Amino acid sequence: MVLAQLGGSISRAIQQMSNATIIDEKVLNECLNEITRALLQADVQFKLVREMQTNIKKIVNLDDLAAGHNKRRIIQQAIFNELCKMLDPGKPSFTPKKGKPSVIMFVGLQGSGKTTTCTKYAYYHQKKGWKPALVCADTFRAGAFDQLKQNATKAKIPFYGSYTESDPVRIAVEGVETFKKENCDLIIVDTSGRHKQEAALFEEMRQVSEATVNPDLVIFVMDSSIGQAAFDQAQAFKQSVSVGAVIVTKMDGHAKGGGALSAVAATKSPVIFIGTGEHMDEFEVFDVKPFVSRLLG
Ligand code: GDP
Repeated sequence: MVLAQLGGSISRAIQQMSNATIIDEKVLNECLNEITRALLQADVQFKLVREMQTNIKKIVNLDDLAAGHNKRRIIQQAIFNELCKMLDPGKPSFTPKKGKPSVIMFVGLQGSGKTTTCTKYAYYHQKKGWKPALVCADTFRAGAFDQLKQNATKAKIPFYGSYTESDPVRIAVEGVETFKKENCDLIIVDTSGRHKQEAALFEEMRQVSEATVNPDLVIFVMDSSIGQAAFDQAQAFKQSVSVGAVIVTKMDGHAKGGGALSAVAATKSPVIFIGTGEHMDEFEVFDVKPFVSRLLG
C-alpha cells in the first residue's frame, strides 16, 4: 500500500528534524517541506496541505517555546493533530440503531466499488446481529442487478430489484417499503453510477433521495486511486445529495490514499469504513487516530 510510503516519508522527516542539535526555524521548515512533499505525492489536495503547514507553524512558535520545552515532542504532536484534523470533520456521521429501520443510500461513480461495498456493509452488520437488506436501484448499468443478487445470495442477505423496471425511483420506493414491512433494520439502496460526473446522474440521485426513500444516511463511495481528482468529485456529489459519510475502496491496491483526506474535506463527512480487497470480509472500520498513528509508525 502506497500509504505506507507516505507514512515512511513523514516519519523520516520527523526523525531528521529530531537528529538536528538545535531545532530552529530552518530545521522546522525543512521538516514541514518534506511532509508537504510527501502529502502532495500522495495526492492530497494542495490547498489542504498548505493549510496544514500554516497551522503547524502557528501552533509551534519556536520563539515562544521556553527553554527546556521539548520542541520535538510539541512539533510531533502538532503534526499528528493536524493529520487527524484533516481526517476528522468534527462531527460523527449518522449511526443506525439495531432494531430500528434505517435507510442507507450508496452513491458513487461506476467502478468505484459501490455495489461490492453495499454488500460488504450489509454483511458486516449482519455478522453483528442486524437484519440488513439490499435494494438495487441501479437501472443504468446492465448486469447491476445480477451482481447485487449474486453477492446478496452468497451472503444470505435479502435483496430487491427488477430486470424490467427502468425507473430507479420506483424500485427504491418498492424495495424500501418491502423491507420495512419485513422489519429489516438496515435497508441499503444501491444507486446508479456513471463513468463520470454528469448532470443526469446527479438528477437521478436527487430523485431517488428526495422524492421517496428519504435516506437516513447517504454514503459516498470513492475509489482511493482517483488521486487529485478526489476533492472535486466528492464535492460534486455532496452538492447534489446530502452525503453524510465516505467509504474509500481499494486501499489494498496501489492507491496513494491521499484522496481519502481530500474526500473528507470536500464532503465534511467522516470516512467510516475502508475497502481492502474484493472479498466480502475485506472491509475495515475506519478510526482516525489509530490510522494516523499507524501512518506515522
Ligand atoms: P460499482 O460499479 O461502483 O458498483 O463497482 P463494483 O462494486 O462493481 O466494483 C468494481 C470492481 O472493483 C470490482 O471488480 C470489485 O471487485 C472491485 N473492488 C471493489 N472494492 C474493492 C476493494 O476494496 N479492493 C479491491 N482490490 N477491489 C475492489
